[in-house]
Amino acid sequence: MIDHPGNVFVVSAPSGAGKSTLAHRLVRTVPNLIFSISFTTRRPRPGEVEDQDYFFIDDAQFDAMVREGGFVEWVQVYGHRYGTGRDWLNRRLATGLDVLLDIETTGALNLRRAIPDARMIFILPPSAASLEHRLRSRGKDSDEQIRIRLDHARHELELCDAYDYLVLNDDLELAYQQFESIIHATRASRERMAPVAQRLLKEY
Ligand code: ADP
Ligand code: 5GP
Repeated sequence: MIDHPGNVFVVSAPSGAGKSTLAHRLVRTVPNLIFSISFTTRRPRPGEVEDQDYFFIDDAQFDAMVREGGFVEWVQVYGHRYGTGRDWLNRRLATGLDVLLDIETTGALNLRRAIPDARMIFILPPSAASLEHRLRSRGKDSDEQIRIRLDHARHELELCDAYDYLVLNDDLELAYQQFESIIHATRASRERMAPVAQRLLKEY
């Protein structure tokens, strides 16, 4: 029996802070937690899988979804549009699954207005130098891309005030434990568990 719909968790970070590393491990390890699959107009990168990494759609399809109110939030970043599908998200939450959204800060703040009880987590790098080092050692981005991402980091960091939790990713293990604890603590919060307590009361 589902007493309540699932929880929404949002994770944002400056590129290179370790968000993907932490988030992928979480959805592999924590039961009933799934990744949100966003819609995007950017083309798939080598190795990316349709309906798994993103729903890859064209501009006309994206426009139609915007017109129909099909997005909980959407943004334009790095020259492409990205959005969280309303139906997709609601269907998952209705089954009681918790959904983790990996989205950038502007969209995250819009999502918070649409879903006020979303739990928002921001990953902090230990220093500006380590962020650059991580981006370079990841080896996935050109010098130009790295420069754009570092420029953007300041903007992202300025918005971290709006988040519920700031997880410092210096020691990876510690950061992971904190992130996982946030998920478990949210699941046990009074607001979320109240329907269970009510059901129990009715048995007496
Ligand atoms: P993001 O998704 O935030 O852009 P990634 O998860 O891809 O960042 O991490 C960027 C790079 O930093 C990767 O090479 C990853 O292995 C490394 N990394 C992540 N967390 C740590 C950490 N705590 N200490 C050292 N390196 C890390
Ligand atoms: P990438 O092109 O590297 O996959 O993603 C670029 C940025 O878009 C990342 O910061 C990612 O978190 C963000 N992003 C991906 N999907 C969405 C979405 O649906 N909404 C918003 N607001 N940002 C998204």
